[in-house]
Amino acid sequence: MSKRSGSTALTRVGRPATGWANTPIVKGSTYLFESLGHWRETRVKREHERMLSYGARGNETTYALEDAVSALEGGYRSKLFPTGLAAIAVTLMAYLKAGDHVLIADAAYGPVKQFCVSQLAHYGIEFSYFSTAADDWAACMRPNTRMLYVESPGSLLYDMQDLPAMAAVCKQRDIILCADNTWGSCLSYQPLKLGADVSIVAATKYLGGHSDVMMGVVTTREAVFASIEAASVNFGQVVSAEDAFLVLRGLRTLDLRLQRHAQSALSLAGWLAQQAAVRTVFHPALPGDPGHALWRRDCTGSNGLLSVEFAPGISTARIEDAIDRLELFGIGSSWGGFESLVLPIDVKKTRLSPAANETGYLLRLHIGLEEPEELKADLNRLLSSLETR
Ligand SMILES: *Cc1c(COP(=O)(O)O)cnc(C)c1O
Repeated sequence: MSKRSGSTALTRVGRPATGWANTPIVKGSTYLFESLGHWRETRVKREHERMLSYGARGNETTYALEDAVSALEGGYRSKLFPTGLAAIAVTLMAYLKAGDHVLIADAAYGPVKQFCVSQLAHYGIEFSYFSTAADDWAACMRPNTRMLYVESPGSLLYDMQDLPAMAAVCKQRDIILCADNTWGSCLSYQPLKLGADVSIVAATKYLGGHSDVMMGVVTTREAVFASIEAASVNFGQVVSAEDAFLVLRGLRTLDLRLQRHAQSALSLAGWLAQQAAVRTVFHPALPGDPGHALWRRDCTGSNGLLSVEFAPGISTARIEDAIDRLELFGIGSSWGGFESLVLPIDVKKTRLSPAANETGYLLRLHIGLEEPEELKADLNRLLSSLETR
């Protein structure tokens, strides 16, 4: 983890220069000006410079969070959105127009594909997918491809992609490389430093970290920032100061929490991989995972996510009955909070690779901040009940 320098930065970013140690909550819609001249001048300036002018354009609390995330991601500036999905949707609308094509990783977060089918298609924007398993992105590009949309590591199976190789091709062909960095959460993976133009993080996950706030953040290079800024204003995207405050507060312990999540998940992943009822464990920090070499090259850490494929032949009913009896793992959407969660996953509908159709029962685990030995005991009860007939 020597490549990582986030922990000190996390104690400095998004703070007032003097006064309150942490940024307070500022609420407002109307902002008053000294004179009509001042009001006119601000309206001109705010088109290319961040200026307090109206609540829909942000306030001191949201600015502080924007600054914190852009510093951590190594970007020019950031914009905040009410959910991670809103951040993705507005990004696609910001950079694509009728006649353009966007090439999307099959490993991308599922609702992105739903957005393409039910919204992008209405605007004459083409979309198609490439297989992360076949790594065939270059062959899938079209003459009108204007954006390559990736997620590395990908959703559910955490497949790593070679972002620097993609960036080299995108740069040559003037294609926007956009990466969903929710897995990396600003610290463990840094797409902008690996050559991406746009990085999106669902702050709902590890940045907030306490399962009590929804938010998305888009951070870009300077050359492409104006488009996301304009789209954010045009779609009226804004977050509440309370929510921005909660994410800023969560950020202070992000490195500490991620280290604990990652350590517990890696130790449980290694143990699970040796169990008779388990066929595969997906976790890029685990030696032997197909993405391990790229993970070592491009990541400076990991997190609490892992997915398990149960041995084929164990019936779904038995597995689900055992899952229902887990005591420490909650059943529910999302991840990145303090607590452990499980949820069945289905990659058959989304992955292009034929191998995806042959998998056994898949379960996603989010390893929380609980005592790892107690989590292991809970999972051990599940596995034992699958081994006895
Ligand atoms: C959860 C998630 C999102 C969406 O975030 P919401 O805040 O739930 O809308 C986007 N991308 C990835 C990879 C996610 O895991």
